[in-house]
Parts: sequence; structure tokens; C-alpha cells
Amino acid sequence: MPAVKCDIVICGGGLAGLSLLYRAMKAGIWTNEQIIVVDRSDKQENDKTWSFWKTEDSVFEEIIHRRWKNLVFFSHEGQKIPLKNNGYTYNSIRSIDFYNYVLSYLKTFANISFVQEEILTITSSGKGCELVTSLHTYHSTYLFNSIFKKPELPKGEQYFLQHFKGLRIRTKSAIPPLSDAYLMDFRTKQDNGTTFFYTLPMAINEVFIEYTLFSKFVLPAEIYDQQLRIYLTAVLKIEDYEILEEEFGVIPMTDHLFKRFEGNIIHIGTAGGDTRGSTGYTFTNVQKTIGKIIASFQSDQHPFFTAENIGLKAQLYDATLLHVLAKEKYPGHQLFSDLFSKTPAYRIFAFLDAETSVIEDLHIMKSLRVLPFLQSFAIALYNRFGSSKG
Ligand SMILES: Cc1cc2nc3c(=O)[nH]c(=O)nc-3n(C[C@H](O)[C@H](O)[C@H](O)COP(=O)(O)OP(=O)(O)OC[C@H]3O[C@@H](n4cnc5c(N)ncnc54)[C@H](O)[C@@H]3O)c2cc1C
Repeated sequence: MPAVKCDIVICGGGLAGLSLLYRAMKAGIWTNEQIIVVDRSDKQENDKTWSFWKTEDSVFEEIIHRRWKNLVFFSHEGQKIPLKNNGYTYNSIRSIDFYNYVLSYLKTFANISFVQEEILTITSSGKGCELVTSLHTYHSTYLFNSIFKKPELPKGEQYFLQHFKGLRIRTKSAIPPLSDAYLMDFRTKQDNGTTFFYTLPMAINEVFIEYTLFSKFVLPAEIYDQQLRIYLTAVLKIEDYEILEEEFGVIPMTDHLFKRFEGNIIHIGTAGGDTRGSTGYTFTNVQKTIGKIIASFQSDQHPFFTAENIGLKAQLYDATLLHVLAKEKYPGHQLFSDLFSKTPAYRIFAFLDAETSVIEDLHIMKSLRVLPFLQSFAIALYNRFGSSKG
């Protein structure tokens, strides 16, 4: 098999791989390195919509497709809770805009090559890294991997799936009540786990809705379609619409501790643990991790940073929440209603971005039922530090 040598391999050119390369080239840290990006896809499709809250300008400000200032939460019983988000806006980027924007910049560099191949294996040895595809073997000093594989789970670890089907629809007439984004709308049956709609008005006659569940198994395809239809007609009162786009996704929600570094392999994105276990949100954490990798290259000429953004405290909180959900004694819809009705959203956003102090965290936890959380926190601590690890 032909062998190719380079300095850096980007294994998987999706959100994390392309964000890293884009920001590294903007920062000027890899101008002399030979870089190869390997992905099975040519990224010509709008395969995802990435949404995230923020207070400051993002690196990808220019391609934000829609932005909302007003956010709303609906409880299972139908209570509407306008969210106090203060300086936070909620933002969406269409993945196709991201791929086009980033690739048009990266393709101007002579030291970057893109190859469309199926990746079979990656390994790291003392001499560097090796990536094998069906056509070539690539050798590099560093390899940034964003190909996610479900890990082997030690006993006691939780592995939920956030699974969803989304539709972008266009209506014949304007949709008057829909000027706000519904971050979580629990006005749906809770038979298959914590279940809500996520509703983003895109234009006066266009809306993106997503039927979302936190549970351990995906559902038969027809259930998502059926529930989307019911929500559109019975809750949003929209009868006459055409479907412009569909999206199906599964995001892992787990307390598994992902490895960031294996020799000279650096795992990034979901594969590196950048997906927040309690929410599935990933976009912001990916950008924070990349910021750390770039800073490390700038100061020490290597990618090995020490402090993770989702640190020990945040990992234990996520593990606790997943254990509470797994025990099914405190229903997810009730838990989120308690949270959003008693704590301002800006505090929750800061908490989920791992930007709060322990005192602020305790204030947030006061809005939840204490006993299930304390029991689950003890289990999370034991799983992390007790048992065979002690
Ligand atoms: C439909 C969907 C919507 C999401 N929406 C949000 C959101 O709104 N907000 C948020 O914060 N997070 C969201 N997420 C979670 C997360 O942000 C995304 O999954 C994000 O794309 C993760 O980035 P990544 O780089 O880790 O993985 P990816 O972007 O999936 O990149 C991995 C790349 O590896 C390639 N690849 C995989 N296997 C192979 C192989 N064997 N050979 C060659 N190439 C391979 C893929 O083609 C892909 O380009 C969403 C996820 C999904 C699935």
C-alpha cells in the first residue's frame, strides 16, 4: 500500500477537524507544516444545524444563519416560561455554510491536501502516528482524530442517546406566534424517555422543529414522523406546510471519560469528550478545546494542554444527572421544568459552559429535588474514585 509522509494528519474533517485547521491557519501556527485532511465525505451536504448560546462574538460570526434574543421553555403541563437570558443570544449555523466558508479558505493553502478516503485504523508509536485507509497509509508527527466510536463502558457508566428528527418546513402563510425560539417544549408524551420539541423560527413562514429524546434506544423511524405531525397540527396549529429539509441525529450522552491524548494522537470533538454529557451540546466546547491546542502550540510548539474545559467538577455533575435520569424516579420533564422555572437561564448557560463557581452551582441545584441528586452524586463519586480505581 502506498505510504505518504506529512507533519499533521486531520482524521475526520467535520466540525472539530475543520475548525481546528481553520483556526490554526488563521493563527499562523502551521504555515510550514505539510497537512493532510482525510474524510470519507466531500462535505457538500447540509447534514447538521449547530446551535449554541453565547455572549461574545464567535470565530464563525459571519456564517451565523439565525440568532434569537428571546427564548422560551414549555413544561409538560403547558406552562410557558420566558427565559431570562440577559446577554446571551441563541445562534444557529448551517453545516453547509460552515463547510463552504472554511474549505474555501483552507483550499488556498499549498501545504494542505484533502483526500476523500475511508479511514480503517489509526495508531500512535514512539515515532509518530499512522493512519490506514483502503488506499494509502499516512505517517505523521501529530494526528488529530475526530472519528467517534462507541467506547467500551466500565460497569456503572451511563450511555444515553440524544436522538432526534428535525424538519425545516415552509408554511403557506406567516406563523404569528413563532417569533421566539423554544429551547425545550415538553408538550408531548413522555412514554419513551425524556421527550421534547426544539422549535426554531427561521423566517416569517419557515420553522425548524426537532422531536428529541434522551433515552437508551432509538425509536422506529415512523414514530418520529408521527410525533412531528402531531406537534405541528395539535400544538403549533400548522396544517398546511411543505418540508424543505430533514435531519436525523444521534448524539452520545455519557459519563464515560474519553482519552484526549494517546501518544501523538489528539482526540477532538465528540471523540475527545467535547460533547457535554448532560446536554449533548458540543459546538462551544469544541471551540474551547481548539483554543487550548492553539495556545499550546503558540507557547510550547506542541498540542498537549492540561486543563480540560469540561473538568472534573462538570464531569461529576453530568454523571449525576445521567444517573438521576437512569433511575427514573425524578422524571426528566419535571427536572428540567424545576430547573428552568426556578433558575434564570443565563445562570444555566454559564453552568453548562463550565463557567460557574461552586457557590453558583449550589444555587442552581437548590432548584432541583435534593435527594435523587445526592444519591446519584454519591454513585458518580464512587464510580469515579471508588471500586476498582480506589
Ligand atoms: C444532526 C446533528 C445535529 C447536531 N446539532 C448540534 C447543535 O445544535 N449544537 C451542538 O452543540 N451540537 C450539536 N450536535 C453535536 C455535535 O456538535 C456534532 O455531532 C458535531 O458535528 C461533532 O463534531 P465532530 O467533529 O466531533 O464530528 P463530525 O462533525 O461528525 O466530524 C467527523 C468527520 O469524520 C468523518 N468520518 C467518520 N468516520 C469516518 C471514516 N471511517 N472514514 C473517513 N471519514 C470518517 C465524517 O464524515 C465527518 O466529517 C449535533 C449532532 C448531530 C448528529
